[in-house]
Amino acid sequence: MDVPVSHRDLYFLRRAASDRPIGEVVRMRATHEWDPEAALVAEQYVQLYLRRDPATENCIFLGQEGCTIYGLRPRACRTFPFDQNPRGLLQIASEAKLLYDVCCDKDLVSRQDRKAAKHQIGRGVEEFTLYRELVAVWNTQVKDKPETQTLEAYADFLCRTVELGGAPQP
Ligand code: SF4
Repeated sequence: MDVPVSHRDLYFLRRAASDRPIGEVVRMRATHEWDPEAALVAEQYVQLYLRRDPATENCIFLGQEGCTIYGLRPRACRTFPFDQNPRGLLQIASEAKLLYDVCCDKDLVSRQDRKAAKHQIGRGVEEFTLYRELVAVWNTQVKDKPETQTLEAYADFLCRTVELGGAPQP
């Protein structure tokens, strides 16, 4: 499972890797126009994910001692290995085993706080609702201006929105 990146995640990734272009820490994966998280970047519809180390396939933020950006890690990492079933109950995500293989902190599952995970999942639902709205605004703004559809400009747009709304809590 790849780690998806929202506007809030980008904001924190920029802080965590302030010396690097955003393209070095996130990658774009082509998707379809009708995907609600599909943003127009470089004349194609894409979603954003954390990059992996090409040699190991691990997340690029995985160090010898575990996650090197733990306090600023994306929402998906905060809720891992849980998600919520349609009745609102916490369950181990079906992709958890896969993420566990490429990630991370090997004690995470046993240390995970279910109450905290549930809280993070709730915030994640709100966050991705807003993210989809932002993507739609971005797409409208850049649709006929391919020269403006750069990854850095998209990241600027999303991060600016976070800043205008006040920096969120990690
Ligand atoms: S928690 Fe794991 S997947 Fe998430 S940023 Fe850290 S190392 Fe990467």
